[in-house]
Formats: sequence, structure tokens, C-alpha cells
Amino acid sequence: MPQSLVPPVTLSVVTPMYNEREAVDHFVGRLRPVLDALDVAYEVVAVDDGSTDATVSRLLQLRADWAELRIVSLRRNVGHQTALRAGLRAARGDYVISIDADLQDPPEVIGEMLAKALTEKVDVVYGVRSDRSTDTAFKRNTAGLYYWMMRRLVGPWVSDQAGDFRLMSRAVVDVLNELAEPRPVYRLVVPSLGFASAEVPYVREERVAGNTKYPLSRMIRLTFDSVTGFSAAPLKIATWLGLLSFLLCVVLIVTGLVAWGTGGVVPGWTSLYIAVLLLGGVQLICLGLLGEYVGRIYMATQSRPPFLVSFDTATTAPDSVESL
Ligand code: UDP
Ligand code: MG
Repeated sequence: MPQSLVPPVTLSVVTPMYNEREAVDHFVGRLRPVLDALDVAYEVVAVDDGSTDATVSRLLQLRADWAELRIVSLRRNVGHQTALRAGLRAARGDYVISIDADLQDPPEVIGEMLAKALTEKVDVVYGVRSDRSTDTAFKRNTAGLYYWMMRRLVGPWVSDQAGDFRLMSRAVVDVLNELAEPRPVYRLVVPSLGFASAEVPYVREERVAGNTKYPLSRMIRLTFDSVTGFSAAPLKIATWLGLLSFLLCVVLIVTGLVAWGTGGVVPGWTSLYIAVLLLGGVQLICLGLLGEYVGRIYMATQSRPPFLVSFDTATTAPDSVESL
């Protein structure tokens, strides 16, 4: 293990960044004064999630006069949650805060979060969005549906509108770092652990620059991971659908037999056609559900590293990083 190049810290601020060149200066400009005013030893762990723009080179420049800025660069893009995972592994603080790099989570709330953790002696402080009016209607509605579903599937302790802006104590982060799950969804895992928690409301701001890195396909992926990571209920839905279609078939068979026995003409293909389509559909749904769970098991047994770190400025001397 190479010797650490930075002194011990109390607070780690973990921020995943994917192609955030346009936002990074705004972010650093607002975050730094907040942290400097806190009067605690801190580090900012900027996780570069395989950015293809100039995010890393800009971070390296910014780091030149901000020693607390640490850059953990991943070899390729692994997605927000896994980038967060890399950041949590790297973080060394007694308290760790995860925050987005686009200033949708206001850094000014960090002080309040830390104060709450210390005074109320809780292990988790959630940033809870009190106002999402800056999000698009589509984002609000899909998010509303997502949290509604998760509260039902996972449990009522999933806080409505708590995303990934939160503070966690070292105890919580240590537990998270031990998870064997292939793609943990932290906003669900953390409340499920049952640590004492508090909330801090904040107003969700508009993305300061650049575009969202969460297209619909990623939102759907997150939803699948959330559901299959937490509940086997969909498998039960599959069983119920199967039972229902089986009952339907029994009814169809009986009516068919009765019609045949009484010499009635069974009208041709419409019923057949519907039954085949219906059964085919139900079977495909069930197979798909099985596939989701088997896929997770498969990935867990492969136990490949979910991400690979290309460099970490805490263990790589800046000179050698600059030459990368
Ligand atoms: N992000 C990431 N990897 C990705 C996608 C996003 O590290 O593959 C980061 C992104 O840079 C930002 C945070 O995750 O700091 C949230 O992403 P974004 O703001 O695009 O999502 P939205 O707020 O639109 O849901
Ligand atoms: Mg955002």
C-alpha cells in the first residue's frame, strides 16, 4: 500500500463526475468557501467516472491551489451509483457526504448536515428535497412514481424525495463498503440499515451547466436495480400471473369441451389467437423477471471489480499524475 500523501481528515465530500467540465468550476467555486468555513479537516473526493471531456485535466489544474481536492479517476464510465461506490471506498473521513457535481444539491447545506450529525448524534443525515420545481415535469413525475413504488416494495422508511445528497458516519460507510451486491442503490440501502437518522430540507436547484447524465435508459436501469435489489415481490407477481392464466386456461378448456360435447361450433381462431398471445406474453414477462434476478446472481458470482481506479491523487504523487 503506498503511503498516503494527505493528512487525516474528518469530513470527506464525495462527488461523482461524468463529463462535468462545464459545471466543475461553478461547483468548486461554491463548495470551497463552505468547506473552508467549517473549521474541520476535510477532503473532497472527486470521482471522475471515465469522463471523455476535459473534466480530469481541469480538476488537476484546480487541485494545484486546493490541496484538499483529491481526484479518483476511474478507467471507464461505470454509472453514478458505482462511481459513488468508488468514492465511498476511497473516502477516509469520519463523516462522508455524497453530493452531485452539478450544484443541484446546494453545498451550503453541508454545515447544517454535519452540525446535526454531531449534536443529535445520528449516523445519517438525509438531504430531503422540499421543492423540485426546477426539475422538469417528466423528471418530477417519474421520480414521484419511483419513490411511490419503492415505498411499497422496500418499506415505508424510504424517505420520499431523498436522493443521494446525504451525510453518513464512518460506521455506515464501513458497512456499505462491505456489500457484496453487484449494483447497490444507496438511497434504498442506507435507510434499510436502520441507523439513527435526521433530515435536512433543501431546495433542489437547477443544473448549473451542461446536460443531465441520466437519460431515460439509466433511469429504467436504476429502477430495475432498485426493485430486484430489494424485493422478490416481482417473482411473486410472476407466480400470480401464471396462476391467473392457468385458471383462464381451465375455464377455456371446460367451455371448449362443453361446446364440443353439445355439438356447438367453436368459432375459429379469435379465442385461440388471444389465448396464445396472452400466454406468450405472461411467459415472457415471467422469463424476463427471472432473467433479472439470475443476472444479478451471475454477476455476484463472477465477483469482478465493479470499477477500476486509474489513479488516485492521494496515493499517486501529483508529478506522475500530471504526466498521465
Ligand atoms: N454521474 C456519474 N456517472 C454517470 C452519470 C452521472 O458520475 O454515468 C454523475 C454526474 O456527473 C452528477 C451526478 O452523477 O454529478 C448526477 O447526475 P445528473 O446530474 O446528470 O443526474 P440528474 O440530476 O439529472 O438526475
Ligand atoms: Mg443533476
